[in-house]
Formats: sequence, C-alpha cells, structure tokens
Amino acid sequence: MLRPTERLAVGVSGGKDSVSLLHILSHLEKRFPSAQLVAVTIDEGIQGYRNEAIDLAASCAKKLGIEHHVLSFSSLYGHTLDDIARRARELGQDSICAYCGILRRKALNVAARNVAATKLATAHNLDDETQSLLMSLLRGTINELQHSERTVPGIVPRVKPFMTSPEKETALYAYLKRLRFQSVPCPYANTSMRNEVRNFLDTLEEEHPGMKFNVLRTFEKLSSPTVQEDRAVGRCQNCGESTVRQFCRACEVLETLGLAKNTEDRELS
Ligand code: SF4
Ligand code: ZN
Repeated sequence: MLRPTERLAVGVSGGKDSVSLLHILSHLEKRFPSAQLVAVTIDEGIQGYRNEAIDLAASCAKKLGIEHHVLSFSSLYGHTLDDIARRARELGQDSICAYCGILRRKALNVAARNVAATKLATAHNLDDETQSLLMSLLRGTINELQHSERTVPGIVPRVKPFMTSPEKETALYAYLKRLRFQSVPCPYANTSMRNEVRNFLDTLEEEHPGMKFNVLRTFEKLSSPTVQEDRAVGRCQNCGESTVRQFCRACEVLETLGLAKNTEDRELS
C-alpha cells in the first residue's frame, strides 16, 4: 500500500476518522525517515460548520508537526458549497452531498498534486466504503468504480488504510486517545441517501455478521482490472483534469447548475 519513500498527502477533514488516521500515520512515519506526511483539508465553504473543522485539522497537524494546506471550493471552482446548494435548490435538486462528493474528489486530487504527493490517503472506513459502493449500485454509476491499483496520469494514487476497519473501531481509537475532532454533522448530511443505506447495512450486519466485508470484497472483484473495461483516460476539455469522459464529473456538475467556468489548478493557500 505504501512505500518507505512516500510523500503522503492525508485528507484531514477534522472528523474523528481523519484525525485518527493522521495520528497513526505520524507515529508510523517516525520509523521511515525518508517518508513525508502532509495534511490537506478541503474547505467546501459551509457556513457555521467547516471553519471549526478546519481549525481542528490545523491544530491536529500543528501538534504533530505536520505541514498543513487548505484548498477551498471558492478558489478552485469560483463558488462555495453554500452557493452551489442554493443554486441546486433553485433548480429543484436537493441532493447536495451528491454534488459535494464529486467536487470534493477532484479538489482532494488537486490538493494532493499541488503538494507533490506521491499518494493520497483518505480515512474512509469499512462503513463509509460499503455505503458508497452500495449507493453507486443504486444510482447506476457502478461502471465509474476505479480500481485502486490502476494508475491514471494526473490522478494521485489513493490509499484507504481504514477501509477494512469498522467505524466503531476508528471511533474507539479517537476516544481512547482523547483526540479533538468535530462531532457536529454537516448541515447537508441529511440530503444524502447515505443515511438510509447506512441503516440498511447496519441492520443486515447485525443479523448476518460479516455482511459489510462481503459487500466490500464483491465490489473489489467487480472493479478489478480484469473485469473492468479498460477505458481510455484523457483530459477534461474544460479544466484538464484526467477523465474517461469529454468533461470531468466536477465540470459536468457545475455545467448542470449553470455555474461552470474555466477552471485551472489553483495553488493551495
Ligand atoms: Fe459534503 Fe455531504 Fe460531506 Fe457535507 S456531508 S461535507 S455536503 S459530502
Ligand atoms: Zn473538468
């Protein structure tokens, strides 16, 4: 998953999982003098929510002596998530998380690339991962699953060290270590179908232990390079980001909302 010489960008939102991941990686890094860690945070622009999380992420990184950078939606896309949510609601669209997820994914890649990272680690745990996989099945976007071992020019390879750790375990780590993290949920979180999928999976897991691992393993097989059609990767004709489409998903989302602009990678603040 990781080499001893990695310059690893860690996506830190300020929540319990990402703060725990940064702690664990910073301990491991001490055993590998050639490895470097750098924390990156995406500021979506969610008033009354994200600022506290950014402060927590910054203080966690500072305490651990890790370089920290913030990249905002407004500098990358010209709009905050609050602007995008207003526009989406005007158009009768209420699933703000669906837009945010696509825009965050690109933003994290740009942030990792801007700090010259060789890999990008995110703190998705087993619960996050199985929920996302099932949601992609329900939304009909399963063909967009990207196998982690596939190298794509312009995309910083991602690793998810908590992918097989249940959320209860990552939460336990944060509590036992008395880490400071944001516990208030995002005000848009209830606009996602994630809560329904989470309840469904939690109920199944209770009655059939091991179900979440089965879901994970099945999707891993489905997205394996031997099963997945080897789609040609090119550049988004608007922003230049790597994509298998004419325009990347982030540009498509902004175009749908009438908020598109020519975007370029911005330097981190
Ligand atoms: Fe974005 Fe939804 Fe996560 Fe809020 S809960 S940060 S809107 S993906
Ligand atoms: Zn694009």
